[in-house]
Amino acid sequence: DLILHNGEFIREEDLVISKEDRGYQFGDGIYEVIRVYDGNLFTAKEHIDRFYESADKIKIVIPHTKDVFHKMMYDFVEMNNINNGQVYVQITRGAAERQHQFPTQAEPVITGNTKSVERPVASMKSGVKAKFIEDIRWLRCDIKSLNLLGNVLAKQEATEEGFFEAILHRGETVTEGCSSNMYGIKNGTLYTHPANNLILNGITRRVILELCKELDIPVEETAFTKTQALEMDEFFMSSTTTEVMPVIEIGSQKIGQGVPGELTRKLQSAFEARIGVGVKS
Ligand code: PMP
Repeated sequence: DLILHNGEFIREEDLVISKEDRGYQFGDGIYEVIRVYDGNLFTAKEHIDRFYESADKIKIVIPHTKDVFHKMMYDFVEMNNINNGQVYVQITRGAAERQHQFPTQAEPVITGNTKSVERPVASMKSGVKAKFIEDIRWLRCDIKSLNLLGNVLAKQEATEEGFFEAILHRGETVTEGCSSNMYGIKNGTLYTHPANNLILNGITRRVILELCKELDIPVEETAFTKTQALEMDEFFMSSTTTEVMPVIEIGSQKIGQGVPGELTRKLQSAFEARIGVGVKS
C-alpha cells in the first residue's frame, strides 16, 4: 500500500521525516480517522471539517482546499483498494530547530495511511467491559491533538486489567472514553456529556444524536456522575471504529441486566441502516 506525504502517494520506504519534526518532538499537530464502508468514506465531510477545525484551533494552516483534501482521501482509498477499513491522516507544524514557540519558517507536514479493518461485530453483540479512570488530560480535549499521553496511559491501564475501554472522569463527572464518547440511558432518556472543551465531539456521537431524534429518544446533553453511570439502565460508547458499542459492566458491576440494552440495540440497528450494512448473525 502507498502512504500519503504532503499531497503525494509514495512508498513507505521512501518516506523521510525530520528528527526536528514538531509532531515528533512536541506532539504539535492534529489527526483524523475516517471509516470506509464499501469503498465509501462514511461522514467524510464531518471528519474533514473537524480536521480543519482542529488545525485552526492550534493555528496550523492546511495547504489544500477542503475540496482538494476530500478528493485526496477518496483517491487514497481507491488507490489502496480499501473496501472496508479506515484512513488515518495527520498534520504537524513541521520541522524546525527545537524551541517551544512556533517557528517562522516551517512548512506543515501531512502524512497518512489506509488499512483494512473489520467491524467489531462480536463485541457489538455481546457488549464490552469498561472501568473508571481519572481523566488527567489537558483542558482542550475538543482538539483532536496528536498529544495523546493521557489517553494512552488510561487505555494501557484498562487493557492490562482486561477492560475494553476506560470511562474517564474529572472528579465525579464522567467525560468520555480514551478514544470514544460515553452514553447512559435512564428511563428512556439518553444522557451524554455536552460537546465542550472537556470532550472530543465525536462524529459518531453526532450521528447517534441525530438517530435519537429520528427514533424519538429524548436526549440530555448533560454530564452525569460515576454513581449515576452505575445506576443507568443501559450504557454504551461510540467511535468511528467501534460504532455503537454496548458497555455491559463497569468495573465489576453489571449495568442493568448485564446485557446490551434495548435502546442501545435499536441505535445499533439504526446506525447500521445509515452505513448500509447489518450485523450478520
Ligand atoms: N473521544 C476521543 C478522545 C476520541 O479519541 C475519539 C475517537 N476519535 C472519540 C471521542 C470518538 O470520535 P469519533 O466518533 O469521531 O471517532
